[in-house]
Formats: sequence, structure tokens, C-alpha cells
Amino acid sequence: MEWQTILHEKNLRATRTTLAILEILQQARGPVSQTVLTEQLRASSSDHSTDRVTIYRTLERLQNADMVLCTTSSGQSRCYVLKAFASAGQFECQRCKKVSLLHTDTRMDSAIRRLHQQLAAQGIKVSENGLSLRGLCQTCNTAQD
Ligand SMILES: [Zn+2]
Repeated sequence: MEWQTILHEKNLRATRTTLAILEILQQARGPVSQTVLTEQLRASSSDHSTDRVTIYRTLERLQNADMVLCTTSSGQSRCYVLKAFASAGQFECQRCKKVSLLHTDTRMDSAIRRLHQQLAAQGIKVSENGLSLRGLCQTCNTAQD
């Protein structure tokens, strides 16, 4: 779906900054720090008119519209992630095949980042981000007893 359509449905204006932020977050497929986001926005706009306040307000609107999540933790810079990529992975029940998303938080994010760094140090390139766990869901696990 086009961002313009989604923004329209959420009654948000499809400003150049809004679209640029969504593009950056989509390409990142994971959390992006506010610093990196600002740098990329400035690099992508020809007139360099994207000021800090505009970026902040746009991110705030996107958060209010439940499209973007802020994964701030103390001592770390703010990170933003598209709601669609906020899941750390998925759990699939081997019996009923139900798939549920694993919810992420900043600790999980940094653990996954560390894992990626470890793999990168071994020359391994990860193309798919996300955990895939299998087992028995609560219903099936209870039914088994
Ligand atoms: Zn199940």
C-alpha cells in the first residue's frame, strides 16, 4: 500500500518530511536513532529545510497515529521504528500452526543488534531480521497435560 493512502486514512497530511521519514524507516526495517534519521533526512532534502522541530513534530504525529514506535531507554538515544517492523520475530505453534508476533523492547533490540554484530564479525551477512521460535502455544500446551 502507498504511504499516501495510509496517511490519508489516518487523517495525516502527506508532507515531504512525513513521506521521507516513512521511507527511511521502511528501508531500515528496524529501529533508527533520531540522530541517523535527522542526518538522512537532511541528506535527502535538497533545500536542507528540514529542521529539528519539524522532524520532532512529524515523528510525534506518526506515533500518535500508531504508525511509528519510539523505543527510548535511559542513557540511549531515541530510536524510531515502523510499527510493522516492531516485532522481534514470531512464534509458531507446531500443533495448531497459530503464529503470534513476539513483542520487542529496547533490551531485545540491543540483544539482536549484538547478535548481528557478532555474526558480522564472522563475515556472516544477515538478510532476514527476526527470531523464529516454534513450540506449543498456551492452548495446546494446556490441552496436553
Ligand atoms: Zn497451538
